[in-house]
Amino acid sequence: MSFQEQKRRVIELLVDSGYLKNPRVIKALLNVPRELFIPEAMRKYAYHDTPLPIGWGQTISAIHMVAIMTEELDPEPGNKVLEIGTGSGYQAAVLAEIVAKQDSGGGHVYSIERISELASFARKNLERAGYSEHVTVVVADGTLGYKEEAPYDRIIVTAAAPDIPPPLLEQLRDPGILVAPVGDRYFQRLLIVEKRNGRIIKRWGIECVFVPLIGKYGWSESEW
Ligand code: SAM
Repeated sequence: MSFQEQKRRVIELLVDSGYLKNPRVIKALLNVPRELFIPEAMRKYAYHDTPLPIGWGQTISAIHMVAIMTEELDPEPGNKVLEIGTGSGYQAAVLAEIVAKQDSGGGHVYSIERISELASFARKNLERAGYSEHVTVVVADGTLGYKEEAPYDRIIVTAAAPDIPPPLLEQLRDPGILVAPVGDRYFQRLLIVEKRNGRIIKRWGIECVFVPLIGKYGWSESEW
């Protein structure tokens, strides 16, 4: 079965099981070639709905997790998005599809990665898949956010945080939405934070397990 056919099937399954509802997210997942974000040796598993290793002890999230987080984030064409944890660059590409390519576009994704080799891997993948113009990958501690381009309409954290890093809340626009897996080192839940009319509204989403967010407002490498 071709990658295209495998992709269509897995997305259909996510729609049928009620995980995927937003037409913008469905279109983005159908357009992004996930196989270009997976190391060559693992590429044949690109459309298995599980996390896959991408090197340096890190993973690309399962397809359903990318789908659910993107639905919760609810990005809109034209949005400026900050992602913490670039990894392979796949989630950034899905976001770029929506904010920069759908409708009249005009949005941009800033994605922060602490491991420089992974940032290079992601840049190469984004280039091959045609998203490099719409995604800026920065090597830094993403728990500090990225002040240079703040405020952001949407912020997504794709590593497990002990709590929401305060700089991220400060850099979120009003109105804006932030999604992050929050919990302890073994187990987390998605926390959806909405900033609206100067108020912060928090809601818990599904349970999940992510690799750690390591940095000033995350975990220290030694305690993980
Ligand atoms: N979004 C990625 C994708 O689409 O492939 C998957 C992210 S992976 C589950 C988590 C990533 O967060 C890892 O690449 C890890 O190095 C990165 N990370 C952990 N702590 C970080 C921090 N403080 N700042 C930036 N990146 C961080």
